[in-house]
Amino acid sequence: MPLALYNTLGRKIEPFEPVREGKAGFYGCGPTVYNYAHIGNLRAYVTHDVLIRTLRRLGYEVTHVMNITDVGHLSGDDDTGDDKMLKSAEERGKSVLEVAAFYTKAFFDDTEKLGIRMPDIVCKATEHIGCMIDLIKRIEAGGFTYSAGGNLYFDIAKFPRYGELSGRHIDADKNVARAEADGNKRNQGDFVLWFTKSKFENQALSWDSPWGRGYPGWHIECSAMSMKYLGEQFDIHAGGIDHIQIHHTNEIAQSEAATGIHPWVKFWTHNEFLVLDKEKMSKSAGSFITISDLADMGFDPLDYRYFLLGGHYRNQLKFSVDSLTSARNSRKSLLSGIRAAAANGAPVPAKRGKFAALDRHLDAFDAALEDDLNTPRALSALWALIKDDSLPPEAALGGALDMDGVLGLALEREISGKDATPANAAGEAEIEALIAERAVAKAAKDFARADGIRAGLKERGVILEDGPKGTAWRYG
Ligand code: AMP
Ligand code: ZN
Repeated sequence: MPLALYNTLGRKIEPFEPVREGKAGFYGCGPTVYNYAHIGNLRAYVTHDVLIRTLRRLGYEVTHVMNITDVGHLSGDDDTGDDKMLKSAEERGKSVLEVAAFYTKAFFDDTEKLGIRMPDIVCKATEHIGCMIDLIKRIEAGGFTYSAGGNLYFDIAKFPRYGELSGRHIDADKNVARAEADGNKRNQGDFVLWFTKSKFENQALSWDSPWGRGYPGWHIECSAMSMKYLGEQFDIHAGGIDHIQIHHTNEIAQSEAATGIHPWVKFWTHNEFLVLDKEKMSKSAGSFITISDLADMGFDPLDYRYFLLGGHYRNQLKFSVDSLTSARNSRKSLLSGIRAAAANGAPVPAKRGKFAALDRHLDAFDAALEDDLNTPRALSALWALIKDDSLPPEAALGGALDMDGVLGLALEREISGKDATPANAAGEAEIEALIAERAVAKAAKDFARADGIRAGLKERGVILEDGPKGTAWRYG
């Protein structure tokens, strides 16, 4: 069965068909680094991680790009409110770049603890102003912009498909009402591409541009950086559901206005929110929980990952200490099951065709993921495997490690005792892909690359053994 994903663009589940065969370009909106990420934000990044690991398991060569927003993001996504970075820097008596560096590190510390693999490319907005300016020039050349009050705006009336993503086609003649009206805008749905004069005269960071010295709007950064690294049309763009109405809608309008390519992105995936009872997790509501808060409450970050996997990413998830406690209990019993199996022998890599029961569990696991990332069902497949007495423990263990290549619960750590962090754990498909890449490198006499692949896998607990029939591997 091919991977089927819910596409917000069109609002239905569709088979995943990439732009370039065998490859998948993935862009997930990254954090605005003015504060710690809360566990709601981290739900978005665990969802991205599971999708990327699934794509890799299915054999796609994935390029994962994540931006770091360190300029231009106001507290209202529609150009209203305060400048998040500036406000945070003022409150902390630091420079904007110091604040950005501190919270970027804190963010990746958290994602590592949650078993989220590092993106292939992490790009900071402040280091990509040139490509944002180039993109804005193309939008301007197409006649989609106007200047007012010193700022350059995108004119949504010039883009008839505006609002397609949310299914809320906007009649530009009926001015879209926004809480805080900007007198410069012809339509309150219009958005800033480039700020020169704005309410933030003391903006710390500014750059020269054809429209004057200033700084970019928030939306343009994601369009410019995703296209720089993934091309003018790519496969998946992800974020939380809050980004559908404004941020992603605006990204589509300006990108398609610049390139004329439709659809700019083939699949839009959006995770539902993590909520506290009925309230949204947000700083303004005073309901801001971080990974360190969970640690203070005695939870391992992977208890939280397990809790997230227990819900489907498109369903709202209610956070409570009780539900996190039950996730912790389940994870503990899973780990004891793994240790018990490991006491009987080393894991045998999960090759299909050897044990019918193992194949069945792996098929159930894959089918669950291919069904719009049904992680609750994938977890059940793991449990069914662990509890299956008909299988030799080493085979069950190998199967569990294979599944963990997507689930990211650091099961390998329980077996080897060494600190193979979940961010490092390699799944079968990835190992096979690296072995193939090493063979190609050897054939091309690129021995540095070939040795690098072997050493990299060794660090992740995978030993390669070259023999007359090719390269075999085992967990070591
Ligand atoms: P931000 O740093 O505000 O741009 O948010 C980072 C990511 O977290 C975005 O993809 C948001 O859509 C997502 N997000 C924000 N709040 C939540 C929440 N409570 N639950 C799930 N995702 C969220
Ligand atoms: Zn974005």
